[in-house]
Amino acid sequence: MEMKPEQLAAICEQFKTLKGKSLFYARKFADIDISKIKSQEEFEQLPFTDKADLRDAYPLGLAAVPEEKIARIHSSSGTTGTPVIIPYTNKDIDDWATMFARCYEMAGVTPKDRVQITPGYGLWTAGIGFQAGVEKLGAMAIPMGPGNTEKQLKFMEDMQSTVLCATSSYALLLAEEIEKRGIKDRLALKKGVIGSERWGEKMRNRIRRELGIQIYDIYGLTEIYGPGIGISCDYDCGIHYWDDYIYVEILDTDTLKPVPDGEYGEICITTLQKEGAPLIRFRTHDISRIIPGECECGSKFPRLDSIVGRSDDMIKIHGVNVFPKQIEEVLAKFPQLSSEYQIRLSHLDGRDTMRIYVETTGEYDFLELAKDIAHEVKSAVGFTPLVKVVELGILPRSEKKTKRVIDERFE
Ligand code: ZN
Repeated sequence: MEMKPEQLAAICEQFKTLKGKSLFYARKFADIDISKIKSQEEFEQLPFTDKADLRDAYPLGLAAVPEEKIARIHSSSGTTGTPVIIPYTNKDIDDWATMFARCYEMAGVTPKDRVQITPGYGLWTAGIGFQAGVEKLGAMAIPMGPGNTEKQLKFMEDMQSTVLCATSSYALLLAEEIEKRGIKDRLALKKGVIGSERWGEKMRNRIRRELGIQIYDIYGLTEIYGPGIGISCDYDCGIHYWDDYIYVEILDTDTLKPVPDGEYGEICITTLQKEGAPLIRFRTHDISRIIPGECECGSKFPRLDSIVGRSDDMIKIHGVNVFPKQIEEVLAKFPQLSSEYQIRLSHLDGRDTMRIYVETTGEYDFLELAKDIAHEVKSAVGFTPLVKVVELGILPRSEKKTKRVIDERFE
C-alpha cells in the first residue's frame, strides 16, 4: 500500500529520536542513519523486526521511554518459553482506548449499550482493551471475564446486555447454551464483537443464527497495542484498520518484498504513534491482503481481508500456496460433513500428494461425496487432492487446538 504523506511524516519524526531513546533500535539499526530516511523506498530497505527479537529483549529491553513514563506492561505468551513484554505509556493506553472506541462505533455501539466482556483480564491484552474502549465510548461495561457460563447467562439476562464481546469459541459455547435453555427471548443481545481467533464461516453463521445478532470481527495483537487496531463494518467485507496509528505492508512470503494491493502476503506493521515500545516493520506472520478500493460503508479507513492463516501454516504444494482455511471453507459447503478434518501431505512416487480426511455418517455414499469434495477443492486451489471419507468419530479430537495439517514430506 502506498504510504500516505502523513504516515511518512510520522515515521520520519519518530526516526529523528528513536535510536537515542531505544537501546533496542540503537543496536538493530547500528549501521543505518534512520534520521536520513525520507521516502517509502528507503523505509522499505530497513530490516524487519520479528517476534524472536522481542523475546531477546526480555524483560524490558523494548522500552523506548524512561522508567517513570511506563504506566503498564502487557505480555504475549510465547509458545516457546520466554514471553514478550510490551511496555505502555499513559499515551499508549489512551491511544489504544481511542482505537477501540472507534471499533465499537464502527459496529454501531452507542453510549446506551451494555457491553458484556468475556475475554480474560490480566497480563494479556484482551479484557482490559475491550473495557477501556467501552469506557472511552461511554457505554456500560459489564466486565465478566471468561468462564462461569451460569453467571454469564444470569448477567446477560438480568442486565439486558446488548453487546457480547467474546472469542469465537466462547461465543459459540454461549450460543449453544442459550439455545439449549430456550432463553433467547429473554435476552436483549444485538451485536457480537468477536476476536482473537481464526474461525470459519460455518462457526460464524451458527453464532449469528443461534444468537440472532450481527457479528463484527476485531483484529489486533499484543505486540501492537492489542485487539482494537481494526474491525469489520456492517458490510462485512474486510477489516477497517486505523492507518493513523499503524502503517501496514503486505509482504510476499518468499521474497519479503511488499506486494501490490489485492495480493495476499504476510501482514507487517509499523506503529506511528507508540511511545513505550514502537515497532518498526514488525512481522505478524498473519496472512491477508489489502482490499483495494473504498468500502460501501463510506469509511475512508483502508481494509485488510480476513486472516486466511499464519505464514507458519502455509502449505506449499504443486507450486502454489494453500492455507488450511481455504480447504476448510470448501468443506463447510458440505452439510453432510462434521466439523473435523485432517490434511496429510506426503511424498509418493516422486510427487507431492495431499490427502484430506473428512467425516460423515453412514447415510451418505462415501465415494460420491469424496468425488464431489475433490472437485470443489480443485476449483478453489487449482489441483485435485485425494479425499478419504471416514465414519463419524474416527478423526482425532482434542480439548486444545487440534492439529489438522500433518506434513510427512520432510520426515
Ligand atoms: Zn466498511
